[in-house]
Amino acid sequence: MIRRTDRAGESVTDDKSAMLSLQKVLGEMTEAAELYDTLDDGRLLCYACGHECKIAQDKTGVCRVRFNTDGKLMAPSGYVGALACDPIEKKPFYHAFPGRDALSFGMLGCDLHCGYCQNWVTSQALRDPAAVSSAQPITPRQLADLALRHNAPVIATTYNEPLITSEWAVKVLKTAQADGLIGAYISNGNATECVLDYIRPYVQLYKVDLKSFSDREYRALGGQLPNVLRTIKQLHEKGFWLEIVTLIVPGLNDSDAELEQMAAFLADISPDIPWHLTAFHSDYKMADTDHTSVDRLTSACEIGSAAGLRYVYAGNRPGMTGHWEHTRCPNCNKTLIERRGFVVTDNHLNKGHCPGCNTPIPGFWSSDCVIPQQNMGTPMWLTRQP
Ligand code: SF4
Repeated sequence: MIRRTDRAGESVTDDKSAMLSLQKVLGEMTEAAELYDTLDDGRLLCYACGHECKIAQDKTGVCRVRFNTDGKLMAPSGYVGALACDPIEKKPFYHAFPGRDALSFGMLGCDLHCGYCQNWVTSQALRDPAAVSSAQPITPRQLADLALRHNAPVIATTYNEPLITSEWAVKVLKTAQADGLIGAYISNGNATECVLDYIRPYVQLYKVDLKSFSDREYRALGGQLPNVLRTIKQLHEKGFWLEIVTLIVPGLNDSDAELEQMAAFLADISPDIPWHLTAFHSDYKMADTDHTSVDRLTSACEIGSAAGLRYVYAGNRPGMTGHWEHTRCPNCNKTLIERRGFVVTDNHLNKGHCPGCNTPIPGFWSSDCVIPQQNMGTPMWLTRQP
């Protein structure tokens, strides 16, 4: 058996040779990173994500895409591992440009290793030989042009964890912002305050996966619960438009007690944070786990609503969860936006307000209306025409 040593210093077998080739290609599609400091002992402290790796010469961080070469931290740049124009409801954002598209791009790699990952082909490309992906060279200008050509008001970094490639994301989103596009992060929320400040000028929409309320479960996935909770609070404080997703995995995070803890945590930050509860479908290393039942999904929504959250949604079961797919007025209960899966079938909002009782509904609704923030601070205007 042939053995080699990869950049992280691990012994590897022939089974990983394809992955090593990919790692070699990606090693060349990099630029000097910005999100790091040099420590007294010469190691580099990366703070692009909550792991805050201390990386020695010729080693990679946990994500395997950022590495120390000659005392410089290198980070991915200039390619996409996946690219599509998706309905924004698929990200999911339900309070931003309903019925419109988000030009969605991703790179390769992740800082976690969730066994039920629904994007594992891109996120685990450098960890799992079965995850076969390729990197296609592209420029920020080309990505912004694609969004404009497809009439997508939002450009989203997604499919893998965008925090670990934030320098590239900022390059793309800065170019897109100059064209009036809105930047979005679809993330696991394992951030640092430094990276949030770094991306803030170019990112308006941020989705976090709140995967569990158990630190033990988070550690099994390669993360830590306190990091994610801290990120959620900081995103809210810094004025990002924040939506939260919890994939309900039977036996993992679907107890009433755990769902109640998550709902109480979110409602305490702001009752206006939309919470998406989505159904698990068997995938990746959890192919034997049952799908989430419709009953569990709708009862989980009721838990969120009982905790005081005004906008709770059921996902991944189109047409099966009744009003939980729709946006309703928290004051008069009128249905405002009707959906079936990723399709908006009707939108009754009147410049961001309920047409029945004129209650303002927080979100990014159009190019010319007041946008109430979740923290109800200074109202912002979205002045650019997407
Ligand atoms: S992005 Fe995160 S996992 Fe990757 S090197 Fe930096 S701190 Fe480590």
